Amino acid sequence: MTETVRYERRDGVALVTMNRPEYRNAQNSAMTYALDAAFTRAVEDDEVKVIVLAGAGEHFSAGHDIGSPGRDTDVSFENKAVLWWDHVDKAGGDQRFARESEVYLGMCRRWREIPKPTIASVQGACVAGALMLAWVCDLIVAAEDAFFADPVVRMGIPGVEYFAHPWVLGPRAAKEVLFTGERFSARQAKEWGMLNRVVPRADLEAETLALAGRIAGMPRFGLALAKKAVNQAEDLMGLRSGMDSVFGLHHFAHAHNAEVSGGDSLGGQDARSMRDAGRTG
Ligand code: ZN
Repeated sequence: MTETVRYERRDGVALVTMNRPEYRNAQNSAMTYALDAAFTRAVEDDEVKVIVLAGAGEHFSAGHDIGSPGRDTDVSFENKAVLWWDHVDKAGGDQRFARESEVYLGMCRRWREIPKPTIASVQGACVAGALMLAWVCDLIVAAEDAFFADPVVRMGIPGVEYFAHPWVLGPRAAKEVLFTGERFSARQAKEWGMLNRVVPRADLEAETLALAGRIAGMPRFGLALAKKAVNQAEDLMGLRSGMDSVFGLHHFAHAHNAEVSGGDSLGGQDARSMRDAGRTG
């Protein structure tokens, strides 16, 4: 059986790689907890100064798993991000809120607080739930072929669970991205301030590791405090409380969908229809 997430250490850099390339690294709960285990290992290893998050294959990630054979939304997990009850034997909003509080919003917040610098290394698709993974990283290096989208307004839902859009894109670009649901390019994302570097695809890993290597030369505790300082400033700009308020709208949208379409909280969309819709952009 192949590992869902690969872990390697190169000098002072931990390289954490999502490894479901046959499903464009769609993120199921098994991957979420494998990522969490890899990040924990990197935090606890004093030799690791910087963490790089990458995706194996042609794409960084297609987002949350809403259609692969490994989809595991009805499997119990041991809550790590929030203290809440198991979602599995619950119904309706009780079930959805428990699950998404833990595996989506909670886990992303937990990873944003990792006390070491994190760098996302992005190629190909970085769509919907994958934006959340890239956004919780401190820096983002993207290949020229990378493309981004949050198409979940097609589901009648106002953006993915980790609602950082206005803070990472600015309000006007956030609205364009949400209102159209269309793909935007690495060049466009750089212009909007979402990316640190855009590099040729062939140089992505080397450029990311070179940047990580330079950061790894800085003192560990200084980096941790600098990261916390900027994160605290972002929270003072409303990131955390804004996200909490939008999480309520997000769950209202899931509940509305379920109410009007026979229990389908995704508004009649599935992995294929979402992927095809994304292509029009
Ligand atoms: Zn959701």
